[in-house]
Amino acid sequence: MSSTPAVPKILIVGGGYAGFYTAWKLEKHLRKGEAEVTMVDPLPYMTYQPFLPEVAAGEIEARHIVVGHRRHLKRTKVVTAKVTGIDHANKTATITPEEGAPWEIEYDQIVVTAGAVSRTFPIPGIADNAIGLKTIEEAVAIRDRLLGNFDKAANLPPGPERDRLLTVVVVGGGFAGIEVFAELRAFASSLLRVYPQLSFEDTHFHLIEAMGRIMPEVSLKTSEWVLKDLAKRGANVHLDTQVTGAVDGVIELSTGESLPSDLIIWTAGVMANPTVVRGGDLPVEERGRIATRADLRVGTVDEVVEGAWAAGDVSAVPDLTGKGVGGYCVPNAQHAVRQAKLLAKNLTAVLRGELPQEYIHHNLGAVAGLGLYNGVFQSGNIALKGLIAWFAHRGYHGMAMPSWERKWRVVGDWWHNFWLGRDNVSLATVQNPRYVFEEFAARPRPAAPVEPQQPAIDPKSVVGEDAPVAGAKAEKEPAKAPVAG
Ligand SMILES: Cc1cc2nc3c(=O)[nH]c(=O)nc-3n(C[C@H](O)[C@H](O)[C@H](O)COP(=O)(O)OP(=O)(O)OC[C@H]3O[C@@H](n4cnc5c(N)ncnc54)[C@H](O)[C@@H]3O)c2cc1C
Repeated sequence: MSSTPAVPKILIVGGGYAGFYTAWKLEKHLRKGEAEVTMVDPLPYMTYQPFLPEVAAGEIEARHIVVGHRRHLKRTKVVTAKVTGIDHANKTATITPEEGAPWEIEYDQIVVTAGAVSRTFPIPGIADNAIGLKTIEEAVAIRDRLLGNFDKAANLPPGPERDRLLTVVVVGGGFAGIEVFAELRAFASSLLRVYPQLSFEDTHFHLIEAMGRIMPEVSLKTSEWVLKDLAKRGANVHLDTQVTGAVDGVIELSTGESLPSDLIIWTAGVMANPTVVRGGDLPVEERGRIATRADLRVGTVDEVVEGAWAAGDVSAVPDLTGKGVGGYCVPNAQHAVRQAKLLAKNLTAVLRGELPQEYIHHNLGAVAGLGLYNGVFQSGNIALKGLIAWFAHRGYHGMAMPSWERKWRVVGDWWHNFWLGRDNVSLATVQNPRYVFEEFAARPRPAAPVEPQQPAIDPKSVVGEDAPVAGAKAEKEPAKAPVAG
């Protein structure tokens, strides 16, 4: 009697750019019943991170920049939980859900695409007072904090407290830092129209960069144009400066300056997801990323770890163009998406006994939005600035947003904002959605305090169950109907 061969099980760890695209493409390449794909991510969606600065600046509705896993992955089993351990020697992974006990899952092929997290340094106060910009929750919180601070500041007389509320500090002059800094500056300027109590001079924007320049992805000349443009818009960039403290929300700089601020955004670098990297037995290179080959299998040039693949920010994939930093692909979406597409092809090929191909991608350039109608684009020696670069930014990212369903929503937001202006209300109260209900909700009356009772008769003379009990009267009294309000 012949038994049917087991269907290979593919486990994808992380459903961001690289994980989502790997699953999406595997659905296209794999024949029915050829393999079983499971994708595990603690979030039920993939986040289109290049749009986070525009969400923070109220230009795109937050929900529209995330792509729901279950809606778009029809043949993949989606598990909303964390992978907290990988035992590749035994081909099992530990899945830890938010509720309930962890469990083990067996696999034949694992794809590690768990991305990166904000990399910070042990500077006093940063962990407690700053916020990163890697998730949709952070972008929304930044938008709401800025709006909430405008509301508070509008009620205050000029002075240090009002200055603190209207001071924004961004740490890190890479792409993400500059984009959010420029977008928030433009957002704050647009808000002044609806806050007549506040003037442009009341708002303070500072970007702190440890290096002598910003945006290493563009040429020095282009980066200097960005610096001048920011200066014209009243935004201060502190080059060659380090943050030495952020205790109680006061940013201390290596230059000796202090900047009290209620909104400190940390964008000074990322590191490969430590939970997944350290929680497993896959080889890790010196910068803490999964050692990955050019064919996207885990391992080195000389040694392949069979059944293990990696892509995106969590991995160190050799850049065969020879232009990568330290010889590796830089952590960006351009690579994550393309690696994922090839990974899906390669994995399918290997399952069919064919050979995988090597990943090679020539950088297309970099494009950044710097607020409405302003941007910068660089590809080789070609640089575009201002309005035309802003169109390039919107055009590129509008098209790159996965699925037509999401593209429409984002483009719809842009269209509506063009005619109606940006949405400028804070929804910070969603963090405490029950506050009104709770304030007015009727509650059972607290039990009456127990009063010591004077025995009517000498207790010594009483025997048995009829002895008076302290508090009995209160308990027997019928409860009064609650009064609304
Ligand atoms: C503000 C900002 C702007 C950017 N702009 C650009 C740009 O213009 N161009 C560009 O090319 N790149 C840009 N990038 C970089 C780009 O977004 C990242 O390089 C890209 O998201 C990397 O994809 P990834 O799949 O490796 O990681 P991610 O997209 O971060 O996905 C990782 C996934 O893993 C999940 N995960 C985390 N822990 C676990 C766990 N324990 N178990 C399972 N899953 C887990 C996460 O929830 C997440 O869904 C920008 C980034 C930021 C923050």
